[in-house]
Amino acid sequence: MTMMDGETGAYVFQGANLILPDNVDNSRAFNSLSRSLVFDAFGGPETWPSAGYAEIPRVDRNGVMTALMLDREGKLPKGWRSAPIRQTLAAAAGGMVTVDSPEGLLFRAYHIMQWRRESVYCGSCGGLNGDAPNELARVCPVCGRQEFPRISPAVIVLITNDRDETLLAHNANFADGIYSLIAGFVETGESLESTINREIQEEVRIQVNRIQYEASQPWPFPNSLMLGFSARHVSGEPKPDGKEILDARWFSRDKLPALPGNGSVARSLINRWLGVR
Ligand SMILES: [Zn+2]
Repeated sequence: MTMMDGETGAYVFQGANLILPDNVDNSRAFNSLSRSLVFDAFGGPETWPSAGYAEIPRVDRNGVMTALMLDREGKLPKGWRSAPIRQTLAAAAGGMVTVDSPEGLLFRAYHIMQWRRESVYCGSCGGLNGDAPNELARVCPVCGRQEFPRISPAVIVLITNDRDETLLAHNANFADGIYSLIAGFVETGESLESTINREIQEEVRIQVNRIQYEASQPWPFPNSLMLGFSARHVSGEPKPDGKEILDARWFSRDKLPALPGNGSVARSLINRWLGVR
């Protein structure tokens, strides 16, 4: 049913959902499926639209992943179900998602399939893009413009203070009661350090120092690379901006609020701080 790590497998997506056989539960949702199983249920690649289908080399080049992105309205074959990717991710391990893990492989496939859907036409002349022969790029046959998958860097920072507490914030977009780390997208022209300082100023208005890189992880919702940092509180008490951040407080290790799910960089950085993996 599912493939061993290293073998070529297949994924089926529909919007922000993973499409799975009914008998694959969420704990195994991130393992790739066998190609023959997918072909039997959804027809072969010759029947799939080019924007919704790709053979994607793994980052380690140890095989190719077959990926299919169904039309949003498309009905599923009998015996198949739909599972939101973000929800199934909660069943992942508590550490960083690594490149070669089932989650990491699926992240790459999902990122690229979203990009293919948005790169049907050339952004310069409107020509109908094709696939570049030897690299992961779209190329316009009219003007020659190449387009590569877009990666949007974002920083996320675990801030601690002298009382061994960490700063967690409730963002207006979060589900009720969830608190997470300060995070934001890198703006054009910024360094990562300036992004961190700007986001902290905008969201909670405290001063920090000792900004240190910790770890990174892809986050294909839709196309981020999350760069995780730590920093030390110097002065000021958190004042949420009231728009993006509705509440921000210091939390001790033994009195944490509801946290983001496993598979997220936020949870992984918090787990590191807690000494949990
Ligand atoms: Zn063009």
